[in-house]
Amino acid sequence: MDREKLRSWGGGHSSNSQKLDIDCGKDIPNLLQYVDERGVIPRAFGNSYGDQALNSEGTVASILNYSESNDLTITKEGRISIHGGVHLGAVLEAAIHNSWILPVVPGSEKISIGGAIAADAHGKNHFHKDSIASHILEMNVLTTKETIIRCSRSEEPELFWATIGGLGLTGLILRATLQLERIESNELLVTSEKFTTYDELFNHFKAESPTRSYSVAWLDLLSNKNPGRGIIQFADFGSEFNHSFDQKKTNRFEISRPLPFNTISKLNCNSFNAFKFRNHPSKILHKSISIPGFLYPLDRLIGWNNLYGKKGLFQWQIVVPHSEEILLKEIIQTVGTLPVLPTLAVLKRLGSESNSYLSFCKPGWTLAVDFPNENASSRSLLSEFDRKITEVGGRVYLAKDSGLEPELVTEMYPRFAEWKQIRKKYSQENFWQSDFSRRLKLD
Ligand SMILES: Cc1cc2nc3c(=O)[nH]c(=O)nc-3n(C[C@H](O)[C@H](O)[C@H](O)COP(=O)(O)OP(=O)(O)OC[C@H]3O[C@@H](n4cnc5c(N)ncnc54)[C@H](O)[C@@H]3O)c2cc1C
Repeated sequence: MDREKLRSWGGGHSSNSQKLDIDCGKDIPNLLQYVDERGVIPRAFGNSYGDQALNSEGTVASILNYSESNDLTITKEGRISIHGGVHLGAVLEAAIHNSWILPVVPGSEKISIGGAIAADAHGKNHFHKDSIASHILEMNVLTTKETIIRCSRSEEPELFWATIGGLGLTGLILRATLQLERIESNELLVTSEKFTTYDELFNHFKAESPTRSYSVAWLDLLSNKNPGRGIIQFADFGSEFNHSFDQKKTNRFEISRPLPFNTISKLNCNSFNAFKFRNHPSKILHKSISIPGFLYPLDRLIGWNNLYGKKGLFQWQIVVPHSEEILLKEIIQTVGTLPVLPTLAVLKRLGSESNSYLSFCKPGWTLAVDFPNENASSRSLLSEFDRKITEVGGRVYLAKDSGLEPELVTEMYPRFAEWKQIRKKYSQENFWQSDFSRRLKLD
């Protein structure tokens, strides 16, 4: 098999791997023939910011080319059983069309069901709806021990919970059954309000988010005078179906490959932030937006990651428990003074932790910040924060990580040792591996 050069979505990692296309409609190959010292990792759309879906000098197993029917039928109870390679955009569209919704939707439609489950993904409504784990009924997972195993909360529960959030390291999710929720409207009524100081923004977010279906804040971390000022958007469902959304096509632009230079500089980020903030009216804005339009704002510019040029970007996403609001404020107000450039920062509120062994989400606040990969040490400038977050029971999101110190994983994820045991139980040693698992010494 030929080797193929693969790049992470953030662009900071790449690998040469042999690519194995698994067609579940046909015979499943005996994966054991691919066992060598570099193992195999599932790969879907490759939307991981870091090296989670890369396996240098090893094999990546893709299930995106499949002959099995792409059936998106929803039962009258709102259940949908889908192939692991289907993207969330297709599922959400089919659901809305039938007055259902996928309760948890991460911020881009081009994420596969398998990839979302492997990350235990969350959306802008985690405070109310938890992560995707809460909405999965069962999965078929291709493991090395007994080939395909069906697992759920009651059947092979260890494999079920270890695979959710397990970043492909316990097996390949071939199929999953999800529980959808009924909706009365395909319209989200969005309010958008700007706050001149971080304290005002945070207090308003804290007070309002329990009563609003979706909440998210954009923060300006580069403002000298008021770092952490920003704009909060809350959204709730309307009361009827707005059929004009069916015809309306969102204008999309595309940057298809990395630009030869990095267009991101402190000067243009500062100007962009100042413009975005100033341009927002002082009064509250009310808008009606389609569900995908609100949930996937970044998809309007396809390939926006390519703006960062060949070195790309990394994202640092953390959760800080509710009791540690002072640390959160310290981070928000000092990141902009470090010699790394926080280009985009988003704050969300998280609710309950899932039962998955490597669940990222826990009650508290999650901050996600994009940075250009200026040089090899850019990510390490955040290590001091990683340690402080660990000390107070916070976490870095592994699904997006690019540079966490391996020894912090066991402290951030206290059920890591249990997960490791289950992984061993279901797969031949060193079979499922990735650049990510080797970097963080997860074996
Ligand atoms: C613009 C953007 C916005 C995002 N917003 C959010 C967000 O709001 N919330 C959130 O939680 N995450 C978010 N993410 C992160 C995203 O959910 C994860 O990176 C996700 O895993 C990517 O899925 P993918 O299909 O591209 O998988 P890949 O990048 O190909 O793989 C990701 C991981 O999943 C594993 N995997 C993929 N398919 C399977 C399978 N069938 N079986 C087993 N393992 C598999 C891989 O081994 C790898 O470890 C965002 C990412 C981007 C690029």
